[in-house]
Amino acid sequence: MDYKISVIGSTGSIGRQTLDVAENLGIKVAALSANSQVELISQQARKFKPEFIAMGNEKAAKDLRVALSDMDVKIGWGEEALTEAAAIDSADCLVTAVSGSVGLKPTLAAIEKKKRIAFANKETLVCSGEIMMKKVAECGAELLPVDSEHSAIFQCLEGRGKEQLHKILLTGSGGPFRGKKRETLENITPADALKHPTWSMGAKISIDSATMMNKGLEFIEAMHLFAVKPEDIQIVIHPQSVIHSMVELVDGTVIAQLGCPDMRLPIQYALTYPNRMPSRSEHLDFTTLKDLTFEAPDFENMPCLRLAVECAKTGGIKPCVMSAANEVAVHMFLRGELGYNRIYDCVQAAVDHFDGPADDIDVVIEADRAAREFVNKNFGKA
Ligand code: NDP
Ligand code: MG
Repeated sequence: MDYKISVIGSTGSIGRQTLDVAENLGIKVAALSANSQVELISQQARKFKPEFIAMGNEKAAKDLRVALSDMDVKIGWGEEALTEAAAIDSADCLVTAVSGSVGLKPTLAAIEKKKRIAFANKETLVCSGEIMMKKVAECGAELLPVDSEHSAIFQCLEGRGKEQLHKILLTGSGGPFRGKKRETLENITPADALKHPTWSMGAKISIDSATMMNKGLEFIEAMHLFAVKPEDIQIVIHPQSVIHSMVELVDGTVIAQLGCPDMRLPIQYALTYPNRMPSRSEHLDFTTLKDLTFEAPDFENMPCLRLAVECAKTGGIKPCVMSAANEVAVHMFLRGELGYNRIYDCVQAAVDHFDGPADDIDVVIEADRAAREFVNKNFGKA
């Protein structure tokens, strides 16, 4: 394919799968970026020969320069370099595969360059939904979902006017603790919470899937991507993750998108849209599929999900504060500094503490910073 991508977060779960898709389809790579995984990104660089690589810190950039001293590649570090990689002129498309709000400025820069954004980094849209969608429309950029549920909804809505949509049925597996009472989760360790029943993902999103904050973030992501209200989205638990989401039309027809739980499928569709190409993913075999089951979400025992839906309804800076506080709390939990159930307590406290409109990007960035500071101060190790 005569098509070039830039991948921010190329060493992560989505980033590596993106490069697998790129290799299979012969898509070229203009820029790569990672935080600190020097060895892996140097292997990626030798294979894909990008013109620019951005690292998260100076030491990683220095080490990478040594590792790639025989190659003609520019290497930078820090936020500016990440933004340069994201918005690099020679790329047609940016794949946002970093985790967390670090992707916000780079994504906005690529939108301003009118690029296609293959969009995985949901935290950025949760933080700045209205601002980002307005910018996409103003600049004539293209935001194509990589998140499997949103890719499914996008595919189910293709070719349909919005007046045909009755509601979005956002499916979720329910995570590793589906059916458990909150009080029994007190002593959950990171290793327990990282075991997802159907998907293999990065650490942060795996914990979000356990607390179901991930489904909450996806609820807000869907509101912005498809310009719908909270009451137009229903969350449906579907443990097998074969149906990736559905839409219900005004006449009662339901359209679903199905496939094996393999992120390379939605990644590939965001890259090849509106075309379809053969993929490396397994195909579904309906004769071996036993049950497709559905149930209502348990808002009582998954309070992060309830909180996210509330923040979606309130709007303003609440979704941004929620997402930033959650990011900090999840990393504290992963480092063994915070109990599992305290993740929700942290996020709820931050959401209760901050309020206000989110009509400007600087306001959003400040809300993100303040929420992180709040959690570190009130819940962090002294
Ligand atoms: P990972 O944690 O696996 O990967 C994160 C990537 O971002 C790594 O390449 C990491 O580099 C890089 N990174 C982190 N901080 C910085 C920084 N400051 N500067 C530059 N690069 C940085 O995450 P996932 O791939 O799981 O998730 C990525 C995004 O996609 C998230 O927003 C997630 O919600 C979303 N998503 C993920 C899915 C999945 O299946 N994994 C499914 C749907 C959405 P390094 O390796 O050096 O640390
Ligand atoms: Mg998802």
